[in-house]
Amino acid sequence: MLLTRRNLLKGLGAGAALGLGAYFSVLPKRSFAQTAVAPVRALNRFQLGDWTLTAIQDAVAELPASVLGANVDEATLTEFLTENNLPTDVMRATVTVMLIETGSDVILMDTGNGTGETSGSLVPTLELLGLSAADVTQVIISHYHPDHILGAGDMSSMAFPNAMYHISEAEWDYLQQDATGSPFEQIVGLANGILAPASAAEQMALYTDEQELLPGIQALATPGHTPGHMAFQLNSGGQNLLLTVDAAIASVTSLQNPDWYFGFDSDPVQAVETRTALFGRAADEDLLTFGYHFPFPGIGYIERMGEGFRFTPAQA
Ligand SMILES: [Zn+2]
Repeated sequence: MLLTRRNLLKGLGAGAALGLGAYFSVLPKRSFAQTAVAPVRALNRFQLGDWTLTAIQDAVAELPASVLGANVDEATLTEFLTENNLPTDVMRATVTVMLIETGSDVILMDTGNGTGETSGSLVPTLELLGLSAADVTQVIISHYHPDHILGAGDMSSMAFPNAMYHISEAEWDYLQQDATGSPFEQIVGLANGILAPASAAEQMALYTDEQELLPGIQALATPGHTPGHMAFQLNSGGQNLLLTVDAAIASVTSLQNPDWYFGFDSDPVQAVETRTALFGRAADEDLLTFGYHFPFPGIGYIERMGEGFRFTPAQA
């Protein structure tokens, strides 16, 4: 989408109403050094055609449960969560980075939550897999939020020194806007700071909707969560995987109620349209999907259920 003043203002309004303080409270008190080793929570390795994929559970972020239904009254939300055996006070969002080894490229789909005692630690995890930070050749960023880019660098250098960093043109354009005074000022500044060394070193590539930015990896514009948010369709050897990223955050609540606003969607009305269309396609085409914040490893199938959808984890 094009960033219009209308969309920007809508986004700012939503963010202000919900209070980004809650968002920042989940960020780790971090040093930017890639030295802290957090426990590896889980790994799941599988083949997609000719590629080896590894889902890496990098962190589990906690958010107030109220973010799950920003346009829903508290009683309705509480009743839904209780009926589905979910906690009514907190939402736990797994953060899962997908590593793709194609044989010629080592690719990270987003970079997780960065280093710190309470968050993930991607580089030491890669080392457990026999890879160093220098081995990563491509980093594909879905959108600018901290839980997707904190692992990309420390503001002075990039964590993966030999990688090309890919971000959507729409998201990059948004980051260049003046965010002074907006609820997103802090996280926009953080994203610009983290990506600056890649930009300065010409290690940044911009991609657009439907572009095959690397062989077998196609971008799908899915705006609403952020202006330039992208999902991805992977294809290797005839096998497909749809990375839905943050088009839906919660595998139960956001899918069964796709019209419930998620608290950190910058344009919640657009996010509903995006969510409904993307998961509708996944259901109708019986696509294997991967949700960045779904319970680990977040891989499964989507079915239509009532006005919404149901996620069924794939058999390992
Ligand atoms: Zn996210």
